[in-house]
Parts: sequence; structure tokens; C-alpha cells
Amino acid sequence: MNKEQKTLLARIIIAAVFWVPLFLISEGLVPLRLPKAALIALFLVPYLVAGFDVLREVAEGIIHGEVFDEDFLMAVATIGAIVLGEYAEGVAVMLLFQIGELFQDFAVEKSRRNISALMDIRPDFACLETEDGERRVDPSEVAVGSVVIVRPGEKVPLDGVVIDGSSALNVSALTGESRPREVGPEDEVLSGTVSLSGVLRIRTTTEFGESTASRILDLVENAASRKSRSESFITRFAKVYTPVVCFAALALAVLPPLISTLAGHGGAEVWREWIFRACTMLVISCPCALVISVPLGFFAGLGGASGQGILIKGSNYLEALGRVRAVALDKTGTVTKGNFAVEAVHHSPLGDAEMLEFAALAECHSSHPISRSLKEAFGKYADPARVGGVEEISGEGVLARVDGRSVALGNEKLMARVGAEAIPCRSVGTIIHMALDGAYCGHIVISDEVKPTSAEAVAELKKAGVTRAVMLTGDSPAAAEKVAEAVGIKEYRAGLLPADKVAFVEELLGECGKNEALAFVGDGINDAPVLARADVGIAMGALGSDAAVEAADVVLMDDDPLKLAKAIRISRRCVRIVRENVVFALAVKLVCLALGALGIANMWVATAADVGVMILAVLNAIRCLFVKRL
Ligand code: ADP
Ligand code: MG
Repeated sequence: MNKEQKTLLARIIIAAVFWVPLFLISEGLVPLRLPKAALIALFLVPYLVAGFDVLREVAEGIIHGEVFDEDFLMAVATIGAIVLGEYAEGVAVMLLFQIGELFQDFAVEKSRRNISALMDIRPDFACLETEDGERRVDPSEVAVGSVVIVRPGEKVPLDGVVIDGSSALNVSALTGESRPREVGPEDEVLSGTVSLSGVLRIRTTTEFGESTASRILDLVENAASRKSRSESFITRFAKVYTPVVCFAALALAVLPPLISTLAGHGGAEVWREWIFRACTMLVISCPCALVISVPLGFFAGLGGASGQGILIKGSNYLEALGRVRAVALDKTGTVTKGNFAVEAVHHSPLGDAEMLEFAALAECHSSHPISRSLKEAFGKYADPARVGGVEEISGEGVLARVDGRSVALGNEKLMARVGAEAIPCRSVGTIIHMALDGAYCGHIVISDEVKPTSAEAVAELKKAGVTRAVMLTGDSPAAAEKVAEAVGIKEYRAGLLPADKVAFVEELLGECGKNEALAFVGDGINDAPVLARADVGIAMGALGSDAAVEAADVVLMDDDPLKLAKAIRISRRCVRIVRENVVFALAVKLVCLALGALGIANMWVATAADVGVMILAVLNAIRCLFVKRL
């Protein structure tokens, strides 16, 4: 409990302690008679102790021209009750209202804390290696290419590559994965992970602001500001609803007694009765439960998901994710590992080694998975000084000048572009053709592996209610077919350029029903436009790629495709819980309103109902946090 909550609790207790004897006196349950003025004065003490801040809010609201809110409803109703002589009741309503507020504050805090468990990834310091020994500095002061030392129990401050030492890293704060990850020399490490066993020397590859930890924190901090449709609906609803209720109450207070008076049988009693009913109605109609449970439910859902390594950039996307019926998956890096291995070199007048050397050099600036594998197969340092005029053509390959010769490296489309005639290959795999100075000079066969969980993930998606799964790829139909078959995807499209992927996703969007959404899942390498175009763009294992994190609506922090179905299930449940709350709160409200207008429910019942609904709704919303088993 924070300080404010403690103060509020103390005020509630003091006010309640004051209120009980006064209640007994006013009801004549203790043989003590006080003059009316004294009784009012005494009742004002617990009233002000409990509710002075509510009254202050109302005053501020009136000054700023934002009159109608829950505080206003409560203030008018309780003051009305006191003026009408129902002192005990007026004070009690204020007390209950504050108990509800305290509870709600508590709940919001609780889910915020869950999100800040993730905030725990912020590194506090970096242990920088300098010429005269180690120095502890702020991570933001470390330049790219510096060497930092991470000891067991410490957080990795910046993204980098291990140069020395090995350790098991706790990556759970980043990915939700509880198994430690073993790293050794030349492995990449991400900031925000915690070294468990060994001392690591790390050469940093990014600045602090661009590091994984900072980027995730930014993402999470901004998530709450993107509102879902239901959330903005509730805000708009409350804006209209509250004044309507106020005027309805006013009408209830004035019209019936006025009619009675005109008809000749009115009197002070009748007026009192109706004004009291109007106050009751104000109390009943307070939309607290509704107003709090929707944002809280989404908030908890976002928090629960981020604890599982699923970053949803706003509750609008959470809501859309819950409606997903069609999923388009990118092949490379999403369904497959994106770790290509060179299998063979065919039809090349050059030696294999020379062919790979040209390939690795031409790829020296690319970050495509294919490029990585070619550089790996070359095994030596690809000196960028030997390379110039690099042009990477998305979905086709790269053009470059290597040692003064022009190299084209990519698929058949690229060969057609440079006017070289590609020799087709019968091997199954991804075929990378090469042309030197415009003349065809063979191809490299590389193959990728399907991720071990891809097939299960596709099955899980179906179980989660996805009716259509389509795989998209820029690779050849043969390679696509093999992968699609292996994971159980029936529909696939091959040979697509990034622009074709956008067009195809648009086609799919057109085929989606009104309340259905389409998700596109990619690894973020050259598919940012598609990520942005789909209803929900999901980037997978994309913490390394800025463009993807920018363009995506949902970021899966590791590259396990099983997280997809999990994200959908979390969203569905969260949306369902929010709906339950809305229906429940509205139903109780309507019943109470009807009873109140008929004079059956009094203020007590109304407040108890409201605080009760609110507590139940909040507890229900908190369930969104617990998503581990989903
Ligand atoms: P996917 O849709 O499977 O992610 P991409 O659109 O990234 O595939 O690439 C499609 C095809 O374009 C690849 O299969 C490859 O033939 C070719 N290609 C793309 N980038 C490169 C590159 N850097 N080097 C060689 N070939 C490339
Ligand atoms: Mg791709």
C-alpha cells in the first residue's frame, strides 16, 4: 500500500469510528438526545474526514467547466441526503464510495506492479572496462564498441556480443521463458537479461537508448495510452451518461411533486420524498464499476501478456487480436528458423570457395538470414573495403561491386533483372543464383529448418479459433511447399515480393468478415509494410530489428511460434472478462435504477450494490493478469 492509500484508509477508519456512535444516537438506539444543530455539526466531521477530497475535486471540476463526473454525483447525492435530514445515510454513502475508491486504486496499483516486474529490466549501471581499470558508469554513457563486464547476479546493461567468458543468462524478464540460456564467446546478448553463473566481457553493439531493455520499456510505457474501442467507448459513454443521469434526477426531484402540487395534494412531505428518491437515483447511477473495470481489465491483460514475453502495444490491438480469424505467416524466420546452411554449389565455373567468397562479400552489408548464412559458410572476414555500390532489392537479392566486378546474388527474378539466364535446380531448398558481370555463374543451394514447434503452433492456432492460416514467402514454390506440408498449412503463396505480400494481405483483409481480424506474423526483415497493413501486425523474435518493432502492433520477444496462439488466447479471455464486467455492472445498475425510481431501493442498498459490483468487477478484471496457464 502506498502513502496515499494509507492516508485514505486512515481517513475511512477515523470517519467510520466517528460515524457509528452518531448513527446509534440519531436512530435513538442510545438514550442520549442531542440538539439537531449539534448532531449535524458532529456528522459533518466524519463526512468531511471521509469526503473532503471528493468535494475539492467537484469544486475544481466546476471551475474547469467539467462538472459531471462520479464525484459530482456523489457530492450532490450525499449533500442532498444531509440537507433532507438523513445525516447517517449521507455520511455512510460517502464512506462506502471512498472504500470503493481505495479498492480500485489498490487494483490499478497491483496490475501496474505486475507490469513493473517487467520494468525490472532497466539496468542501473554498466561496469565499463577502461585503460585504467573498471569504472561503474550510467549505461547511457557507454559508447558503441566499448567493453563492459557483467558479473553473476548483474543485469546486462547494453546489447552486445560476448568476447570472453560464458554464463547462463536468465532471460525470463524479456521473453517469459524460464529456462536459462547458455551463452559463450561470440554469442549475442540482450540488455535486460541477468547473468547467473559466470563473468562475461561484452562488446556493446548499441547505445543504451537503442538497446533492447530501453526499447521494451518504451513500448510498455506507451501501451496504456492506446485505447481500445471499448475503453474509449466507456469514456465517451460516461461523458454523456453522467449529465443525462443528473438531469433525469433533477426531473425526478421536481416533476412528480410539482404535478402533485398542481393537482392540489402536494406538500413538503411529497417534495422531500421525491428529492430523496432523486438523490438515491444519483447514488445508484454512479458508473464507478463500469468506468474502472474496463480499463483495468485491459491494463491487467496487457500486463499479463507482457509477463509472457508478448508485448501488445495497446488495448486496441489486444481487442483486435481477440478477433483474429485469419493469420498470414511469413515463412523465413517465422515458420522456419531462418538459419540457412549451405548444402551445395552447382554449375559454377568458379571454385566453391571462390563462389562463396563473392557471395559473402556481396552480402557484407545485408542482415537478411540468407546473407548471414552465406557469410557463415565463407567463414572468413568479409572485408567491406572490397565491396561497393551495394543495392539490396527486397525479395530478390543483392547487387554489388566486388573487387571491381559486378555481382548479382539472389533468386530467378534478380537473374532476369540483370539479364542472366538462371539454370533451374532440382534440389529442394532455397536456391541463390549468382551472376558475375551479367553472366550466369551457378547457384548455391541452401536449406533452412522448420522450427520444432511450428507444426504444433499451427494446430494450436486452429484450436484458438483461427480458421485460415496462409504462409507467404518470397522463396520458390518448391521450398514453400515443403515447409507448408511439414507444418500442416494448407494454403501458401510463393515467389512474392514485399509489395505482393501487401497486396495479398489486402486481398485477405477484404475476405474477412466484419467482426474478424487478420494478423500477419513476420520476423520483421523486409516485411515492415505488411506488418503495418494487417489489422494486427505481429513481429516475432524481432527485438533486433528496429523497423519491425516500429511497424508491429504486437511484438513476440522470442521466436517461438507457439506464442502466437497464446497471444490470441490471452486477448480473447481478456476481452471476455471485460465484457462480463460491462454486462454485469450495467445489469445491476439498471435493476437498482428501476428499484430506486420506484422508491424500493434506498441509498444504502444502492451504494452497497455499487461498491459490491465494483469490487467484484475489479476482482474479475484482475484475472486478466493470470495468463500463465493459457
Ligand atoms: P520470405 O518471404 O521467405 O521472408 P524474402 O522476401 O525475405 O523471403 O526473400 C525472398 C527471396 O529473395 C529469398 O528466398 C531469396 O531467394 C531472395 N533474397 C532476398 N534477400 C536476399 C539476399 N540478401 N541475398 C540473397 N537472396 C536474397
Ligand atoms: Mg522475411
